[in-house]
Amino acid sequence: MGFENFGTVSFTAEAKVADFITYLEQGKVMATRCPKCGVSYFPPKADCPSCLSGEVEWFEVKGKGKLATYTIVNYGPSGFEDDAPYILALGEFEGGIQILARLSKDIAPNDIKAGMSLVVSSVKRPDGRIAYEFKKG
Ligand SMILES: [Zn+2]
Repeated sequence: MGFENFGTVSFTAEAKVADFITYLEQGKVMATRCPKCGVSYFPPKADCPSCLSGEVEWFEVKGKGKLATYTIVNYGPSGFEDDAPYILALGEFEGGIQILARLSKDIAPNDIKAGMSLVVSSVKRPDGRIAYEFKKG
């Protein structure tokens, strides 16, 4: 499967990093690393903007990250109107990986604070689409 079933709004299926979705379906949130210069990317990039190499190494974003910051989205952008309100968060993971994702609705609003421990995991939406989100770490 390609990107056509990712998230709420469709992406093109022909992305060079379509393996990302295959990994998500296996329950793995993956990032890429450039084998030439060692820079890591999330979302994954097939080409390295740093050294322009077209080589890529996949690795799983594992372990606990930290909530850097978050915002409550009360009015969603196009395609996300029906999901609001939801919380969009920035998590920092090992190796300097930064991930922008929703916070799971399982996390009680009173528990949300900067610095809290997070894990990132794939999530199958009720409509069959797949995405990733943060859960309590
Ligand atoms: Zn590079």
